[in-house]
Amino acid sequence: MSDSDQTPSLPAVPDDSPLAPGGPAPDGLPAGLSAATRAVHAGRPAHVPDAPLNEPLTMASVYVATGDREYGRYGNPTWQAFEAALGDLEGGDALAFSSGLAAVSCVLDLVGQDALVLAPDAAYQGTLGQLADLEMRGRLRSRLVDVSDTEAVLAALDDDVALVWIESPTNPNLDVADVEAICAAAHEVGAYVVVDNTFATPLLQQPLDQGADIVVHSATKYLAGHSDALLGALVTRDEQLRGVLKGRRDLLGAVPGTLEAWLALRGMRTLHLRLERACANAAELAGRLARHDAVGRVRYPGWGAMVSIELGGGALAADLLPRKTRLWVHATSLGGVESTLERRRRWAGEPRTVSDALVRLSVGVEDVEDLWADLSSALDDLVG
Ligand SMILES: *Cc1c(COP(=O)(O)O)cnc(C)c1O
Repeated sequence: MSDSDQTPSLPAVPDDSPLAPGGPAPDGLPAGLSAATRAVHAGRPAHVPDAPLNEPLTMASVYVATGDREYGRYGNPTWQAFEAALGDLEGGDALAFSSGLAAVSCVLDLVGQDALVLAPDAAYQGTLGQLADLEMRGRLRSRLVDVSDTEAVLAALDDDVALVWIESPTNPNLDVADVEAICAAAHEVGAYVVVDNTFATPLLQQPLDQGADIVVHSATKYLAGHSDALLGALVTRDEQLRGVLKGRRDLLGAVPGTLEAWLALRGMRTLHLRLERACANAAELAGRLARHDAVGRVRYPGWGAMVSIELGGGALAADLLPRKTRLWVHATSLGGVESTLERRRRWAGEPRTVSDALVRLSVGVEDVEDLWADLSSALDDLVG
C-alpha cells in the first residue's frame, strides 16, 4: 500500500494468520456451542443474580472519567454487546458503525493515496459509488473485475493492488466469488482483502476463516432483520488493524445509535430461525420461478434468501411486477422478515452490469404458498 504524508495506510499484512479460527467463546458459556446457540447467547450480561438477561439500552454521551470509555463517541455498553455477538458469529472482533456505508467508508479512508483497489464490476451501488467518488477526486485508483470469475480476478491481481474488495453473493446479480482462492492470491501480492458478507451473513459464510482480513456488514439487512434500523459493522481478527479501524471510527464519528445497536442485537437472537425459513422459501420459489413463462432467467446461487429474476418483458415488465403484487412489498433494501421486491435499475446509480429487466426479491419468512400465490398471479398478469 503506498504511503503518503496525509493519508494513513493500513499496516502490512502479517505473514502468519493472526489468530486461531473460531473466535472467543461467549463469556462464561461452554465452548463448542453451535452457531444457532451462540446467536441466542453471545454478548449477554454475565449470569449473576438480578442481572438483566439482555444488555440494556445505555443512553450516555459522557462517562465518569478515567475509565475505558470517557465519551459517548468512544464506546457504549450496548454497542459492545452487539459487537460481542457479531464478533462471536464471524470469529473475530467487531466494530459497529452508523450504517453499512459508514463502515465501507472507514475502510476506504485507510487506503493510501493513489493506491489501487480491485473491486467487483457489479456490487452494491453505494460501495461502487464511494470508489468512483474517491477516484474522481484523485484519492485512489480502482480496477473493476467480475469477482465470480476467479481467473479474471487472479489475472487482475498484481503488486500494484493494495486492497481487494469482494462482495459474495453480489448485490443484486447474486454471483459468488471463490473467497478462499482470491484471499490466498491477494496475500501473495501483499494486498488486503475485504469481504462484504451482508447477503450471506456469518451463518452461511465466514470469510475470516477463508482468509479475509476484514468483513463488512450492512447490519441493516439480515442481522437486524426487521426493516427498522440502520447499522453497519466491520469485523477483523487482526488486533493491530482493529485498533486502526477503531481509531478512525473515534476520529470520523460515524458511530452507531444506541437504540439501533440494541435493535440489531435483538434481531440477531433469531437470525438462525429467520434465515432457515427464508432460505427454504427462496429455494422453493427459485425453482418455481424458473418454470414461469414471464421469467427469462433466475439468478440464485443455490443458497441464501435472495433471488433475482430477469423478466422476458424487459424493463417495463420489471417496473410493473412490483406494482401488481399485494403481499410482496414494493421496497428497496432486503433481509427483513417481510418479502420485498424492486427493479434495481430504477436507481440511476445502479451499475450497467445489472440487467434493466432484473427484479431483486428479498424472500421473507412468510408461508411460501402465500408468497407464491401472490407472486405467480402478478407474473401471470404480465404474460396473460
Ligand atoms: C445495503 C448494503 C450496504 C450498505 O449498507 P447501509 O446499511 O444501507 O449503509 C452495503 N453492502 C451491501 C451488500 C448492501 O446490501
